[in-house]
Order: sequence, then C-alpha cells, then structure tokens
Amino acid sequence: MIIIGLMMKNIRLIEKYLEELFPNPKCELNYTKDYELLIAVVLSAQTTDKMVNSVTEMLFNKYPDIESLSNADVDDISSIIKPIGTNVKKSLFVHKIANALLKDYNGRVPNNRDALEKLPGVGRKTANVVLSELFNIPAIAVDTHVQRVSKRLSLVEESDDIRNIELKLMKLISKNNWSTMHRRLVLFGRYHCKSKNPNCNNCELKKICVDGKYK
Ligand code: SF4
Repeated sequence: MIIIGLMMKNIRLIEKYLEELFPNPKCELNYTKDYELLIAVVLSAQTTDKMVNSVTEMLFNKYPDIESLSNADVDDISSIIKPIGTNVKKSLFVHKIANALLKDYNGRVPNNRDALEKLPGVGRKTANVVLSELFNIPAIAVDTHVQRVSKRLSLVEESDDIRNIELKLMKLISKNNWSTMHRRLVLFGRYHCKSKNPNCNNCELKKICVDGKYK
C-alpha cells in the first residue's frame, strides 16, 4: 500500500512537471492526411521523427494522394526513404498499406485497433499513436523514450516489457490524460531525459529519480 501511495504521489509530481515543460505537446511527425500519419509512424521505427519528416516530404510530394501511392513503384519508394534505413522492408509496408486502405477502407484509416493491427507493418505502438492522434481515442504508445523515462523514474520495473509498461502506465495515469502524457513523456525523453547525457542538473524530478547513475 505504501509503495502504491508513493507511486501515485510521484506520478502526480511527474505530470505536473511535464505539464510545465510541455504545456501543449504535439506529435512531431508532419502530416496533412490521415494515411500520411499512419505511414509516417510506420516509417518511424528505429529512426527519428526528423528523419521521417525529411523523407515523407519528398514521398508525399511525389505521390500526393493514396491512389498515386498505391500505384507507385516499390523500388522508387524505397529509394526515396533510403536515408531512414530498413527502406526495402518499409517501402513494401508503405505500398501494401496504401493498397489495403483503398481496397478495404475506401482510402481512409480505420478507427479501430483490430483493423489497424491487421495492416502491414502496424503493431500496437503504431495503432496507439494513430488512435490517439487521429481519433482522440485515449492510448499510451510505448516507444523508446516512454520506456526509458518510465524506467528511470521507477514507474515500472527494469525488466518490464513494452506491453507491461503500457498496462502499468494506464493504471497510474488517468484515462483522460493518457494521450497527452504519452506525448509529454516522448518529448521529455527526446529533449530532456535523453538516452545519453540527460539534463539531470536542471531536472526537478531528480529527487524522485532513483537511477543513481544520473544523479
Ligand atoms: Fe531523467 Fe536525469 Fe531527470 Fe532522472 S534526473 S528523470 S535521469 S533527466
């Protein structure tokens, strides 16, 4: 009981601090259409949003609608997205997603998890981002930043996998704050509690951060 009480006290502190740091957190992937976000999130595996934005700008300029993307040459997609790595696999995902959306959903992104997770290259994390960004459905997508920050702040165990982290955060954070906290944790991990050289000297969470390495 004491540990749960402490955890709840800590999460309130974290929520308050992250709200001060990032009052209006936004997804940093650029998109103007629903399928563009879906594809951008799929492309973001193992790379940065900045890199994804640089290739999707070219990709969506050359193929400005889902029909043209579905008819694009996969090798051409691959060469456009080459800078982000694993481009051969990702280009197939892009092409297959465009075709699947046209065939089964009239070119639109479906608003439910089951349908999303059946699309090529779409896993739980991508589905969570899409559900919360496009449809305002509360979700906590656990990416590398959310994972690292949650562990450093002892919100989860070091041994927890991504699904366990998501479940634990869902219990600790109010449902109406899931999506916002997801964005704030990502931004905090990206710009403040970085993987290397976290900004501990200027971090108000230092007092509850038990990761001795960073004190
Ligand atoms: Fe991250 Fe350092 Fe703050 Fe801990 S004290 S949350 S490691 S920035």
